[in-house]
Amino acid sequence: MDRELRREGPATGLRRVLLPAPRSFCAGVERAIEIVERLLDRHGPPVYVRNQIVHNTHVVADLEARGAVFVSGLDEVPERALVVFSAHGVAPEVEREAARRGLDAVDATCPLVAKVHAEAKRAAEAGDTVVLIGHEGHEEVVGTMGVAPERTVLVGHADEVAALDVADPGRVTFLSQTTLSVAEVEGIAAALKERFPQIKGQGAEDICYATSNRQAAVAAVVGEADLVLVVGSANSSNSNRLVELSRAAGVAAHLVEDAGQLDRAWLDGAATVAVTAGASAPPRLVDEVVAALAALGPIEVVERVVTEETQEFLLPQRLRSPGRGA
Ligand code: SF4
Repeated sequence: MDRELRREGPATGLRRVLLPAPRSFCAGVERAIEIVERLLDRHGPPVYVRNQIVHNTHVVADLEARGAVFVSGLDEVPERALVVFSAHGVAPEVEREAARRGLDAVDATCPLVAKVHAEAKRAAEAGDTVVLIGHEGHEEVVGTMGVAPERTVLVGHADEVAALDVADPGRVTFLSQTTLSVAEVEGIAAALKERFPQIKGQGAEDICYATSNRQAAVAAVVGEADLVLVVGSANSSNSNRLVELSRAAGVAAHLVEDAGQLDRAWLDGAATVAVTAGASAPPRLVDEVVAALAALGPIEVVERVVTEETQEFLLPQRLRSPGRGA
């Protein structure tokens, strides 16, 4: 927090800080980070990681400090080296490239992203065109599009549905990026169903539990808040959706990487502040934002648990037993 922020503090009285839950890390992010940590423990650095393991600069910096080396392409990885595929998943062509180069690849793709890949493969093999609802250029979308590139088309907004070019309107399946807004996907799905009455797909079901739970938790408190702070990195899809959801409810909302990005001006007149975090943001960053708010004056912290999360994902087989020398 900057010094000016600390000095000026709140205008008056007790500030209420609402903490909607769940927030911060999901099971897929914890699994991906643990994969890199276990590989570093067992093999020592460097452990190469293709792209950010999850979309959070603090997580990446912490792992870099331990010896992870983040690369944007496999051509940056020495032959036969250890490389981890990020939680967002990769196209099959990337797996083939790793095999051609003799790399020791460990897949940290979230199982819920892998499930969407499997659905895309199944639909394409059945002869359907796959309509993927997603944001162009996002790593997860690039990976999913790569499952059946010749049979997949991307749609980002409902108003793009009319222009979609599909081989057979009677044979279409739609899928979704896992970290979108539930409301947005439902709107696009409705437009798809109108244009392709026989389309197969499950509405917003591909949106993962962590994304939809964090959205529901923010929706449950946003009506009481004067300001919503979302802890997350700028490239974190699910974090950005939490900001959008809050703004759509008419409440000021900001994405912050950490407490250092708090802006004093946002807090003027904000008697109730909700603080949440995207699924890739470490819980300690939320604690630090709350501590920064406490440094401005008295606060009352109110935890609002909307859903308890119990989801866990198994590590890849080769990493399941703790210890060195795998
Ligand atoms: S946000 Fe969802 S899809 Fe992404 S890693 Fe977490 S559980 Fe998996």
